[in-house]
Formats: sequence, structure tokens, C-alpha cells
Amino acid sequence: MEGLRLDPWLARQLVCPRDAHDLTIEFDTMQCRLGHNYPVVGGIPILLIPEANVTHQAATVSINQACRASPSETSQSREAWPTGAIDSFVQLAIGSTNGQMWWPLVGRLREYPVPNLSLEPPSKHEEWFLDLGCNWGRWCLAAGRLGYRAVGIDVSLDAVRAAYRVAHELSVKAQYLVADARYIPFRDATFSVVSSYSVLQHFEKADATRALSEARRVLVEGGIAHVQMANRYGVRSLYHQAARGFRQPTDFEVRYWGPRELVATAERLIGPAALRPDGYFSLNAQAAEAHLLPRRFRAVARASGFLQALSAYVPALTSAADSVWVVAHKR
Ligand SMILES: [Zn+2]
Repeated sequence: MEGLRLDPWLARQLVCPRDAHDLTIEFDTMQCRLGHNYPVVGGIPILLIPEANVTHQAATVSINQACRASPSETSQSREAWPTGAIDSFVQLAIGSTNGQMWWPLVGRLREYPVPNLSLEPPSKHEEWFLDLGCNWGRWCLAAGRLGYRAVGIDVSLDAVRAAYRVAHELSVKAQYLVADARYIPFRDATFSVVSSYSVLQHFEKADATRALSEARRVLVEGGIAHVQMANRYGVRSLYHQAARGFRQPTDFEVRYWGPRELVATAERLIGPAALRPDGYFSLNAQAAEAHLLPRRFRAVARASGFLQALSAYVPALTSAADSVWVVAHKR
């Protein structure tokens, strides 16, 4: 698998996202034996299925970019590494990836916000962590710092390129490729953890279910699915649903799930499951990043962190969280 910007072991775990057959690489194309072709741009495989319905417009953009890539941009070329300033992709994307409280910081970020991953560090030497919909890679950075071998997939080639630049800048080992959470291009039982943040909450329930089934498939036995979702009964969630008249969400709008529905779905698709609060008063408050927020939002993120900690003693607080982690063990 020469020519790929991936660890050789990880590259050998790649499979065709349509049919799970082995992939081979020739120049700037990966191919399965049924003749499905996938472009490789700058060492990054683009393992998207163009005929699949689109969850995010960025998938179409990536496919078009791959078609337009010149041969010099394909297997060999590498981009220039950044020079210490905050990456311009992240400067623009921060409002979309990190939530409403970050909109005032678009173009004005001084430091990369890296959240805390509420997981135990890996118990074995090589444990692989997969982030579904990684964008510029903030959760992979968190996983890498915790000691996992972090891998992120995203439908946006621009986001994946930015993720490589940021990981390099912060000296975190993480690897990325372009792929769809509903068609994960890895072999069965590859990862110890499959995580996802602020991605499946935007999917229609059929797509979220498909992504969870795929998460199960690529998890090792006993592996952990760790997926953030929006709780229908969170205080701010109720306000948001009321503001849109409790109508059916469309496009990339947030889908709200009931806590029991989340646990039942995760138990059916993955294994024994429980909820953990992620945030209050917003879908994206991370106490670890509070110091970077505009002053008026710092208290919100810190209060959210306080309630999250308190929920260990007052379990009922979990069902009032706006954002929850669904944690399920594959069985
Ligand atoms: Zn195939």
C-alpha cells in the first residue's frame, strides 16, 4: 500500500466501502476486485460511494475535487506544513465544528481547542481509535494524547487535509482519510473504540442506525462505541425543538432522541449501553475548552462541566443534559 499517507498496518485494514473486498493501489487509484475505483489525492484515499444519498454536501465537493486533482497532486505530492499560526481552515470551520458559542471566534482563534475524551487510556500497547466525522480532528487529537492510535474519517477532503496539518503542528500522531460513517472502509474488528461527536445527531435515524451498525462491525469484541447525541428532554434541546415548532428536522438539522430510545438502539445494535452527560445549556459545551471562549460563554461551559461532574452523584441529571454520550460495549 505504498503511496498512502497511512501506517502500513492500518492501510492493510482498508476495504472497499461497498462490498468489503480487499483493495489494491495502483498510482493514484485504489481498486477492489469487483472493479470499484477510489481516487487517492496527496496520499489520502477518498473512499466515498458517489451513488449513496448525501448526509453532508462536503461529500460531493470531495468527489469533485478528486476528479479535478492533477496527477502531480495525487500520490506523491505533500502539502507545505503550517508555520505556527492557527490553520485557516480551522479558523473558518470553528463555528460549525465546535458550536454556537464559537461563532464570535471565527477567524480569531488563538489556540486549537482540544477537548477531554472521557475514556480510560488504552490498556494495551496498540489500541486503535476511530472517529466518525472527524472534521479537523479535535477528538483524534484528544485520543492521540490519551495514548490511542487515532484515526479519523470525514467526508470532506479539505477537513482531512486540515486535520493532518493540525496534528503535525501539535505533534500528535493521527491519521485521516475521506470516508462516510455509514460505509466504514475498514475490516471487521479493527478498532478498540469507535467514537463520534456532533455527527450522528445530524443524521436521519436510518442513517444513524446504519452508522452504529458499521461501528459495531469494525469494533473488536468488548470494544467501545462512544457516540454523542442530542437528548430530546434537555432544557435547551426542548427550547430548540419548540423554536422550530416540533416539526420534522430536515437536511443537517439536529435530530433529538429520547434517552430510552438511545439506550435501546445502542443495546440492540452494539451491546450493553448507558448514557453519560456531555453538556448542558448547549450541544457542544466542553469545560476543557472554556478558557478559549468569549468571556460571556466561559461561565456556560464551566457550569456545564460542573453539572456533568455532579451527575456522578445525581444520576437523574443525565436525563436533563442537552448533549449525551451513548457508551456501548460490543458483545
Ligand atoms: Zn468493491
